[in-house]
Amino acid sequence: MNEKQKAAGYSVFQKTIPAFRAHEVTAQVKALSQKAIELGQPGFSLKYGETSVCRVNVNGETLNMEMVPVTLIGGTPKINGWQFVAKVDHGDAQAGEGNLVFGYNPTLIEKSGRKDLVNWLSECPPNCEHCDVKRNRSTTFLFSDETDPTKLIQLGSSCVKDFTGHPNPAALLHAATLFKELIVELDDPEWGMGSGARAHAMLTFPYVVSLAAAIVRKDGGWIPKNDRMGYPNHGATVVSVYNELTSKKPTISIAPGDEEYAKQVVAWLTDDRFLRIPANVNTHSG
Ligand SMILES: [Zn+2]
Repeated sequence: MNEKQKAAGYSVFQKTIPAFRAHEVTAQVKALSQKAIELGQPGFSLKYGETSVCRVNVNGETLNMEMVPVTLIGGTPKINGWQFVAKVDHGDAQAGEGNLVFGYNPTLIEKSGRKDLVNWLSECPPNCEHCDVKRNRSTTFLFSDETDPTKLIQLGSSCVKDFTGHPNPAALLHAATLFKELIVELDDPEWGMGSGARAHAMLTFPYVVSLAAAIVRKDGGWIPKNDRMGYPNHGATVVSVYNELTSKKPTISIAPGDEEYAKQVVAWLTDDRFLRIPANVNTHSG
């Protein structure tokens, strides 16, 4: 972390995400970093490690997925010595509704020394300690003192500007909320799949080949698509692989030996001999 990031109170976040999400996460972090710079804060840093295939549980299915470790340095903006802790959307207490708490900062909550703070946030009344006027507010914000994190202040949204002296507190709070949402998303393995997405859409190539190897083992050999007369073969291997990939519940279990075969197949397919010669290279030796 560089000096400016340190001074801004940024934290280091280390997560492991599916490799196919890296592109999207990079774009998101770039956008947030740009926003931070516009608001007078230092930019963020993002670093990826080496990918590896891990067993991950998605939608109740265990898959072999390519995962990549990611290190993010960033944080929520500070406002004149105050740090954003949480945004609270107040429910109707008389109707027995609780509050919705957004973008809360677990580090600052811990540093506050108040063990009940998360519970308190979910049911606190919409008070403002700045103007002390009791009224029906729908949203309040909680900040903690940069030098003394046990010092907390709850503010009504209309008083945030007055209290902080920042010309655009709404933008700061928006950036803070987006950052906290990103951290939550990075922890969620099913994020980014969309409601209609299926787990098999994220399968790695070695996994598909391992599955084919398991089916070949179970069937006692590769069953071609068509028989000698050209009619479709019942139980053709490619059909079995497809059915297995698209079925809701897996029926084939992959053994270590299948994975070993798959490794050999993938090694063969990615061998130097098969590297494509770029079209613009003149292979005519003349
Ligand atoms: Zn107020």
